Amino acid sequence: MFINPYENNNIDGGQWLKANFHTHAGTGENTCGHYEIEEVIAAYKGARYDVLTISNHDLFSDVQKYQEKYEMVIINGFEFSTDPHMLCIGNTGVIKGNHQDVINECRKQRGLVILCHPNWQRMQYWPWKDMADLKGYTGMEIFNSVIYRLNGKGLAADAWDFLLSQGKLVWGFGNDDFHRWHDIARSWNMIYAKRDKDSVMNSLSSGNFYVSTGMILKEFSFNDGTIRASAVSYNGFVTENKYIFIGKGGEILKEQTGEYGEYKMDGSELYVRVQVVSEHGAMLWTQPIYDEERFKKQEDLWKV
Ligand SMILES: [Zn+2]
Ligand SMILES: [Zn+2]
Repeated sequence: MFINPYENNNIDGGQWLKANFHTHAGTGENTCGHYEIEEVIAAYKGARYDVLTISNHDLFSDVQKYQEKYEMVIINGFEFSTDPHMLCIGNTGVIKGNHQDVINECRKQRGLVILCHPNWQRMQYWPWKDMADLKGYTGMEIFNSVIYRLNGKGLAADAWDFLLSQGKLVWGFGNDDFHRWHDIARSWNMIYAKRDKDSVMNSLSSGNFYVSTGMILKEFSFNDGTIRASAVSYNGFVTENKYIFIGKGGEILKEQTGEYGEYKMDGSELYVRVQVVSEHGAMLWTQPIYDEERFKKQEDLWKV
């Protein structure tokens, strides 16, 4: 049976929430930001974000006190900064140890883990073998926009397809990795959830979100084996976009330009994900629709 991670996006009180989970902020001792935390939160509020994590290097930032003032869902966390980096979000404190220990402890603290910038500095900054061997993380940054002004490749759809092709259920995330003002709102996650932490965390663990650098998903359906997707650039009147359907091994199954994209599955697919490209180069990545039986779900993906 094929699972559509968006099939629950009619939950009562649910809405699309804009989120960034990778934000460096704070100017005090041991912080790694350039601006005060509150200034950065206010800037994200101004950029119409609903959900934010301040994720400093091996420094846990409890910034819950700003949640009410800015009417945002604040999820605490940190960036585990022994190479290769990982985000721990929704947990309760800084964690030390090797990567697998940190994932296990983060999960124990009811948090989740996102592998960071897999192609920073070089291809396979995150070795594919290690990504395949580690267990219990929720996702990876398929896009990290700061990398393009540092060195390397911010896109990591290659590593994502590699993991998905092995039947490893890993969700794609998009984050700013904010350090300076010009890093803001370059890539984000749109999550279908209620405006509270538990609902957001549940939607993240079930894949009910997509990644964007400037497009909104207007329609996504999966009926009788047909995937149909339609995306727009906010309130623009441009309706022509390119829809790319991608399967196992990163193979392009279909490309279509128009007001929507449609792909009829023949049932042999392991997974199919959709990428949309707009006329100005903005992109949108959906999570995969996947064959449940052939996907060995990471057995402890999200048990609490
Ligand atoms: Zn990092
Ligand atoms: Zn970072």
